[in-house]
Amino acid sequence: MDKRVLILATTTGYQIRMFGEAAERLGVKLVFASDRCDQLEDPWWDGAIPVRFHQESSAVEAIVAAVRRQAVDGVIAVGDRPTVVAALAARTLGLPWHPPNAARIARDKRHTRKALRSAGLPTPWFLVARRTTPVASIVPASWPIVVKPTVLSGSRGVIRANDAIELRRAFTRVARLLDAPDIRALQDSAADDIVVEQFIGGREYAVEGIVEKGRLLTLAIFDKPDPLDGPYFEETIYVTPARVSDATREAIESSVSRAVHALGLHHGPVHAECRVNDRGVYVLEVAARPIGGLCARALQLTTGEAQTIGLEEAILRHALGESASGWATSSGASGVMMIPIPIEGIYRRVSGIESARDVAGIEDVQITAKPDQQLLQLPEGASYLGFIFARAASSDAVERALREAHRRLKFTIDRALAVNQPRTLSSVSELD
Ligand code: ADP
Repeated sequence: MDKRVLILATTTGYQIRMFGEAAERLGVKLVFASDRCDQLEDPWWDGAIPVRFHQESSAVEAIVAAVRRQAVDGVIAVGDRPTVVAALAARTLGLPWHPPNAARIARDKRHTRKALRSAGLPTPWFLVARRTTPVASIVPASWPIVVKPTVLSGSRGVIRANDAIELRRAFTRVARLLDAPDIRALQDSAADDIVVEQFIGGREYAVEGIVEKGRLLTLAIFDKPDPLDGPYFEETIYVTPARVSDATREAIESSVSRAVHALGLHHGPVHAECRVNDRGVYVLEVAARPIGGLCARALQLTTGEAQTIGLEEAILRHALGESASGWATSSGASGVMMIPIPIEGIYRRVSGIESARDVAGIEDVQITAKPDQQLLQLPEGASYLGFIFARAASSDAVERALREAHRRLKFTIDRALAVNQPRTLSSVSELD
């Protein structure tokens, strides 16, 4: 009989389709639990289980009732929000995954900080304020600082402040963001909390891994070559393998592994972000889920049997009990650019896609912005114009290809308040 995997997600987008395709290849049936059941178009999801992720007990009850007649053999969570319900469901169904408490800690920046500090990992000083706390009562131990919401992701609402005036501005802005209807709709009391913490300088790296019975197996370390010094922290380029010394690679791996233990993450995918400077490795966060959205395409894995597979297939196979030990990124280098939004306004069109695809090493260019879509930049926004993928012999060549492809893309965006005249932008750098 076909194996069945429970997949919990808040989106119905690309990554879900990739899981659907990987499942078809493997002959696995996916059972989908989501708060977006009304928006499902794909044929895979007949029988999807409608849940509300903030109503944890009833979500788990609905899942358990739905899978009672036909058992599931594994569990997967896509995106941050479903990770806690996924963990509760896995525990109830007796499936190996991350424990609920670990998923809860990983989702919450304040709990993550506490857990990492207690485990003796280098941690920025931090304090937590309510959205309504008077800013004047917040006294940072040093400058610069970072102000950020406790439970959002994708750098949404993360702002650097260098002095008291910037702190006031940043805090007010984050507090206003937390009042937005989509965040109120989360019905999460932690969404009223704002973390204020020490800014940690240095180079940033992302680690993609799979935890197997408590042991971290690192699949890839991504280099983020663009400086992320604020005031906002928009991701752009990810390249793997990271251009680091063996000693730094080992330090990153061992710090993320310690962080995984500190948070209590036990079994399943993880995605970590860390900063490295001359004082060591600072793990900023470890999420109990894989890298988001289209970015997973930048990763190609080779199994012990020399088979090439994508991250979604790897996660499915792991959820079904296969060991990830011996899986590694395929030879050569690869990377992705999340195309930043250069100005706020209405996205109209893009040209130069074919020319960008012609750049040596470019595998694909995907524009995800839709014509006439309102573009919102960070810190309030949470999206990109699209993604560029590259694969080449070296990480330097991948980075060069991504930058050249990006240079060839010309986006037309009507400025938010511009009168009539659309403005054509040849690249982000033109605006800087
Ligand atoms: P999110 O979960 O929204 O991605 P993070 O806490 O990971 O939130 O922060 C997003 C980005 O902001 C990080 O990848 C990093 O570039 C920057 N950042 C966050 N906290 C700090 C810090 N304490 N020091 C320096 N940069 C930070």
